Amino acid sequence: MNAKILETENVTVSFDGFKAINNLNFSMDVGELRVVIGPNGAGKTTFLDVITGKVQPTTGRVLFKGKNLRSLREHQIARLGIGRKFQTPRVYLNLTPRENLEITSNRNKNVFSTLFGRSHTTEKKNIAGLLETIGLTSKADIPSALLAHGEKQRLEIGMLVAQSPDLLLVDEPVAGLTDEETYNIGELLLTLAQSHSILVIEHDMEFVRQIARKVTVLHEGSVLCEGNFEEVQNDRRVIEVYLGQQQE
Ligand code: ADP
Ligand code: MG
Repeated sequence: MNAKILETENVTVSFDGFKAINNLNFSMDVGELRVVIGPNGAGKTTFLDVITGKVQPTTGRVLFKGKNLRSLREHQIARLGIGRKFQTPRVYLNLTPRENLEITSNRNKNVFSTLFGRSHTTEKKNIAGLLETIGLTSKADIPSALLAHGEKQRLEIGMLVAQSPDLLLVDEPVAGLTDEETYNIGELLLTLAQSHSILVIEHDMEFVRQIARKVTVLHEGSVLCEGNFEEVQNDRRVIEVYLGQQQE
């Protein structure tokens, strides 16, 4: 059996009695790229909130690498190795992409690399590599304010990676992007998936088709079905819950 990076066991999150997450059982393996889809209000964002400690489960447990996250604070969970990308980019617009990546990795520099001074050249190399990975080498030294929306998204994904998380949580990364930028983000996530465990929440079905291996469909706070893209797309229950919403 593969090692699990993330598991939820019978997790319920109630807001004044309304169950945004309802007895949710979910698990993903180390190294997996998982896509979670579901109609509006299905509980997708709340699901990320309960993983990152922004909200506590009313009942049930969330396990990260087998460790129960109960009563840990958000920053403690982040330090354990869970990085989250929010929907809107949060990059420093007056700094260049290179500087944005530098400050993110500096903030996480540990005592040892500081003590033994091995960080400086290694870090420069890492940042050059990361700029390459996110496709921003040619724009590394212009103010980030001049980047297109999709480029900012890629930069922020790079900033997340610079923190070396074991699990990346990415909430709707292609909302509002052009087809070309959507494709670029997809390719970037596929590249990162070679060395990270990644959980992506997304609506855009073309994008899901591009990156999906295993897809989990959330509905009313529970798992409705799981499978590869074709299985999920052809599932009667999935088609039913998406009817009435404009998505394919
Ligand atoms: P999704 O991201 O799938 O669209 P959400 O997780 O944002 O869904 O929301 C799931 C449901 O929980 C929605 O009906 C939403 O109105 C409700 N909800 C989310 N957060 C809160 C909150 N803090 N208080 C009350 N209800 C909430
Ligand atoms: Mg949401």
